[in-house]
Amino acid sequence: MTHRIAQFLEDRRPATPCLVFDLDVVEENYNDISRAMPDALIYYAVKANPAPEILERLARLGSRFDTASVAEIRMALAAGARPEHISFGNTIKKQVDIATAYALGVRLYAFDSEAELNKLAAVAPGSQVFCRILTSGVGADWPLSRKFGCDVAMAELLLKAAPGKGLTPIGVSFHVGSQQRDPEQWDIALAEAAGLFRRLEVDGIHLSLVNLGGGFPTKYRRDVPTTAAYGVAIREALARHFGNRLPETIIEPGRGMVGNAGIIQTEVVLISRKSANDNRRWVFLDIGKFGGLAETMDEAIQYPITSDRQGPTEAVILAGPTCDSADVLYEKADYQLPLSLEIGDKLAIKATGAYTTTYSAVAFNGFQPLEAYYI
Ligand SMILES: *Cc1c(COP(=O)(O)O)cnc(C)c1O
Repeated sequence: MTHRIAQFLEDRRPATPCLVFDLDVVEENYNDISRAMPDALIYYAVKANPAPEILERLARLGSRFDTASVAEIRMALAAGARPEHISFGNTIKKQVDIATAYALGVRLYAFDSEAELNKLAAVAPGSQVFCRILTSGVGADWPLSRKFGCDVAMAELLLKAAPGKGLTPIGVSFHVGSQQRDPEQWDIALAEAAGLFRRLEVDGIHLSLVNLGGGFPTKYRRDVPTTAAYGVAIREALARHFGNRLPETIIEPGRGMVGNAGIIQTEVVLISRKSANDNRRWVFLDIGKFGGLAETMDEAIQYPITSDRQGPTEAVILAGPTCDSADVLYEKADYQLPLSLEIGDKLAIKATGAYTTTYSAVAFNGFQPLEAYYI
């Protein structure tokens, strides 16, 4: 917890649950990422946390933006981004939305299928397009495989067809999976990208851009490699596969840019046992899967959760407050909380700056969307 967040919670004593987010941490992350990958252009993945305060801070720092919808494009523009610095990176877009993005000045688009390429040709003529290729998602706690991307053979055919449709094929993209804990996972995708570059060159199509996607992790319960280690591994893989004909690169950090900048404060609503000899307490919080903690699905993302109380701890099952049995946060993962924990205590759910506020339901069971303070 940063000093500024601790001070805010102390002074303001906000109603819980709430996210308190330190914008200075985003600035540190941005600078860290720029230092680790000085040659890459940074496109912040807006979906990780689209708060205007974050987008404005990043726009001022010179960040560009990866967007997935017209609404996200408008948010980036409102934060001060120029349309030339916005990528429409979703491979699943309505044609009418592509037309709107084009009218707003966006000229960089992702695709992974012929039908999507045809939509782009119809309403975004002359734009630069990149093809997303499939990755396995190995090593990632929140894989994005299968749904996005096509195989390299299809990517080759589609990129080859782009000029005939009035589009400029500029390169390829991939995403190695979110919360990717292995910096070496960029290697395979880069090998494939380099092969594609060479084969298309033979056909007179010169690709110049590799979009390295997101995947940079946040430290949750487990340690993760440093940002610098990702920079080294990716630069080495680029050199290995592209030699001295290095492409331009884009990175799209979402989680890695904002995850560690926020903390959710929650209150213990109930502590109970299911039978007299139950050896695990159930601890029910005022936030759960529907209040913003959707990434606890399958216990994939394991946030550090802390109490101010001292003394011996005991295993707990953590659950949310709604009347849905899916609203259990952690049952298999070994979470421990002090035996002295009491109803009404506040807990800190750490590293919750990414993929929380916008995952919160509007009013399931009457619970209001997650309140957030950007300081
Ligand atoms: C979600 C997403 C990102 C961000 O991924 P993180 O793992 O949060 O860094 C980047 N690029 C695209 C295309 C995405 O969909």
